[in-house]
This record gives sequence, structure tokens and C-alpha cells, in this order.
Amino acid sequence: MTPHVEPDPQAGAAVKAADRAHVFHSWSAQGLIDPLAVAGAEGSYFWDYDGNRYLDFTSGLVYTNIGYQHPKVVAAIQEQAGKLATFAPAFAVDVRSEAARLIAERTPGDLNKIFFTNGGAEAVENAVRMARLHTGRTKLLSAYRSYHGATSTAINLTGDPRRWASDTASAGVVHFWAPFLYRSPFYATTEAEECARALQHLEDTIAFEGPQTIAAIILESVPGTAGIMIPPPGYLAGVREICDRYGIVLILDEVMAGFGRTGRWFAAEHFDVVPDLLTFAKGVNSGYVPLGGVAISEEIAATFDKRPYPGGLTYSGHPLACAAAVATIHVMEDEKVVEHAAHIGETVLGPGLRELAERHPSVGEVRGLGVFWALDLVRNKETREPLVPYNAAGEANAPMAAFAAEAKKNGLWPFVNMNRTHAVPACNISEAEAKEGLAALDAALTVADRHT
Ligand code: PMP
Repeated sequence: MTPHVEPDPQAGAAVKAADRAHVFHSWSAQGLIDPLAVAGAEGSYFWDYDGNRYLDFTSGLVYTNIGYQHPKVVAAIQEQAGKLATFAPAFAVDVRSEAARLIAERTPGDLNKIFFTNGGAEAVENAVRMARLHTGRTKLLSAYRSYHGATSTAINLTGDPRRWASDTASAGVVHFWAPFLYRSPFYATTEAEECARALQHLEDTIAFEGPQTIAAIILESVPGTAGIMIPPPGYLAGVREICDRYGIVLILDEVMAGFGRTGRWFAAEHFDVVPDLLTFAKGVNSGYVPLGGVAISEEIAATFDKRPYPGGLTYSGHPLACAAAVATIHVMEDEKVVEHAAHIGETVLGPGLRELAERHPSVGEVRGLGVFWALDLVRNKETREPLVPYNAAGEANAPMAAFAAEAKKNGLWPFVNMNRTHAVPACNISEAEAKEGLAALDAALTVADRHT
């Protein structure tokens, strides 16, 4: 893949200058950032105005599941714009109905009704509102080491340091520890022990909070941003059983893990668990137009059969976003993208990353599925001390910054979060591209090794 534009550093400088003057960036100290000016993108690559090309191992923010500029999705958006660019949510619109049907048919169990939002956080907000109204209860349980979005309740549910600044926004959120054997909160040494202790801990949390006060438990089927921790066998099924026993709604957040990322349409399928509510966004249309939503069980949907659902969004089920979703789902079927993601994980990324872990002292653990992988970087493989301290910034984060800089020098755009790098490319990344990414990671890990 070669860049389609000639290098034009002057144009890049102008884009950057306007950005720095007027764009207020997410999660950033505005005066300290230096965003790359992007000139174009296609498939698994993007390039800057200086002619540098990068293999995107981040899929944007883990959402371009079919890569950039897929011609069929671009054409579908263009066609829809010419036909009916927008229409308010109270009306039945062909492309909206079709997107809902295609999504409902692929979500597990009887999640047959789709409430559309503009992204993941709004999906989480609406899922918890539905759970609260359905149960008549208010409390919400969510996991430490999780990410659920940056709106008020979603950030409150999130279990990472970005919550700290605003975590009194929503009342009634209680955090618990979900299983993570490599850094076990329960001092377990086997998957079975971790699973049993995590379920007991959840039971205890519920008992002390009062089961009759808890509306919902929300979990990412496979937690993403917090480190791609695959739940041990039996954990999600155990949580499902606990929810059933206490009349608690189970919300599985598949905003990141859904739509092919783990080599299945939804990550919950790996564990044979059907939630009451499933949140999605990102991969539903590869983010070509903002779209998210909640897939709702028949039982919860019935709560709002005769009683209005008190929630809505001006752009719910936006025709351009739905056209992109319909086209994306067809592309995923026609090009067998979900199967491909599973295959690349099993044959290239999994073995390749494990091989890197054997050779590099800085790689403590490799974990993942499909095109959803994390390398847990450490100072010491024995003690598992993270390569940088939790929530490190500035000088304390220098080893991870050096790792990222070396990856970029080798043409790879890496996902970096705390002491981890995630290999989360497009689901349709080719074998050759995945191998190219592994080679660049190899070079970057050599830099990380210097800090062990
Ligand atoms: N839930 C999960 C699991 C996510 O990964 C994210 C985004 N990274 C969100 C919710 C929030 O989605 P959005 O940024 O579209 O609001």
C-alpha cells in the first residue's frame, strides 16, 4: 500500500497549526501534545504529509475493524447521502430497520431489539437506564480494570484512573474485582482458583451491598482498554447465574470486543453467555459514521411496551451511520472477516507474539484472541513488576514512550496504555501485514528490554 498523495510538509504544517489553534483534544494537556497530521489512510495503513507510512496496530481507537476506506462502505454512505441523508428517529426508515435486523440476527440469544446511539458511552448510559427502570433498583456494579466511556455514568463505571476526576457524577456505582490471573487480586495461582475466588468475591460484594438494591452488573465480555484479560472458563457463566439468582440485569459491554474483534461476532459467544443487554459501537460500521447501540432482550424490551422509554437522541439510528453498518456487516459476511480474524489470531498473531515473549525479557505475558492481543511489559519476568508504574506520566513513563517511538520509527503505529502494548489491527489485516507488524514490534521491544 503506497500513499496516494505526494508528500507535502507545508500542507501538513498548516493542518497542524490550525489544529493547535482550535482543536481541543480528548484526554490531553492541550499545551503538551503534538498530534500527527494525517494525510490519508487505506486498509491497515495511514500516512502523514511527510510521506511516512504507518501500519495501524490500533485500528484507530480499536474500531476500524474492516480497515480504512473500504470501497463498499464508502459507496454505501455516498449512495445513502444522495437518497436520504438524514431523518428523525421517530420514523421507520428502510436502512435503519435493515441495520437493526442485521445486528439483532447476529447478537446472541433473544437480544432482538436495537436502540441506536452515536457511540459506546451513550450505549452504556442507556443500558443502565433500561436496567434501572426494568428492576426499579438503582445500584450498579462494575469492575476495576474496565472502560465504559467518558459520559457521566459511563466514566463513573469505568475502572481506570480517568474516572478519578469525575467519579462522583453518578450515585450508586460500586466497583469489584474481576478475574485476572497474571496480576491476581485474589492471590490465585490457577485459572480455576481465580474463577472461584472472583465469583465468591462478587457474591460477597452483592451480599454486603444488598441484592435487592442492585439494578445491574456491567462487564466487558473481554475487558479491552484495561488489558485484554480473557475471563477464565466458567466466570461469565457464573456471573450470569448470580444475576439470575438475584434478579440483577447482566449488561455485557461489547463496544470494543464485538463485531469480529475476538474472531467471533461477539466475544460473549466464546463463553456461551447471553446477557440481558449488550452494548456495541466501533466495529458495527468500523466507525465510518458514528454509531453505537444497545441490543435488548425480549423481557427488558417488554417493560417498555406500554410504558414509554424515557430516553432518546436526535441522531439515533442516523441513516448515514446505518447505511455504513449495513454495508460493513455485508462486507464482513462476504469477505469472511470474522473467520479471518480468528485465523490470523491462531496462526500469526498468537504464535508470533508468544515467540517475541520468549526472546524479550520485557514481555511478561501475552494474552488475547482473534485480533485482540495485549503484551504486558515488565521490568522483571519473575516479580512481574510493570515496566512503568500504574498511571505513570512524564519521566516515569519514559520506557513506554521510548518503546512507542521505536515502533513508529519502524513504521508501526502501536497502541500503548500504561505498561501494555496492544496488537489490535483491523480484523481483515493480511498475513503479510501482520508479520510486518510483528517485525516492527520486535525492534521496539528491544528498546523496552533496556529497562528490564
Ligand atoms: N465501552 C467500551 C468497552 C469501550 O472500549 C469504549 C471505548 N473505548 C466505550 C465503551 C466508549 O465508547 P465511545 O468512546 O464510543 O463513547
